[in-house]
Amino acid sequence: MPQGRLFVVAGPSGAGKGTLIKELLSRYPQAWLSVSTTTRKPRSGEKHGVQYHFITEEEFRDMARGGAFLEWEEVHGNMYGTPLEMVKEKRSQGKDVILEIDVKGAGQVRSREPEAVAIFVQPPSIEILEERLRGRATEGEEELQERLSNALKESLEKDDFDYVVLNDDLDRAAHKLCAIYEMESPVVKAAKKENRR
Ligand code: 5GP
Repeated sequence: MPQGRLFVVAGPSGAGKGTLIKELLSRYPQAWLSVSTTTRKPRSGEKHGVQYHFITEEEFRDMARGGAFLEWEEVHGNMYGTPLEMVKEKRSQGKDVILEIDVKGAGQVRSREPEAVAIFVQPPSIEILEERLRGRATEGEEELQERLSNALKESLEKDDFDYVVLNDDLDRAAHKLCAIYEMESPVVKAAKKENRR
């Protein structure tokens, strides 16, 4: 059984990363989505250990100092980090690990794990991104403006990624993400080879 690979999916908040990844996970049992740790307060409906591990800033800093994160970043005023041990464990069990993180975190992962596949999810336009963020109504005006301005900055980094998936049409974008995953996953390749025997 091959070791699983790391897939980093980054892009502006509201670009549709979560929806696309959900689609990928429903099609491929070999893919596992990492649950990040954050100091952000849970939104209504969010549960500890499901969307995130919600902890205090002090706990976060202790974990960061102790080397518990593969990468961590401050995003929109809160800290977010990828727990290292879980990523290692899942990969050694033959699962491809999907990280849904911000662009700066993606850069950290790529310098630490150069064989990781880096995918940038691009919203069709800043106007549509604003519409989506307003539609989901999870942020106040100030935070929404910060997310929009970060989106512009993040879009400038997309050329550093291995792949860019334009999310103008959900079905088409999901199809592209799945095609990239199939092409790059050592686990899917091994399963296909096994089936041909
Ligand atoms: P949200 O607060 O909307 O759940 O996430 C805000 C941003 O933080 C999103 O762009 C999300 O991808 C990013 N993020 C979530 N988890 C991590 C993580 O572990 N590391 C980094 N660097 N970014 C993360």
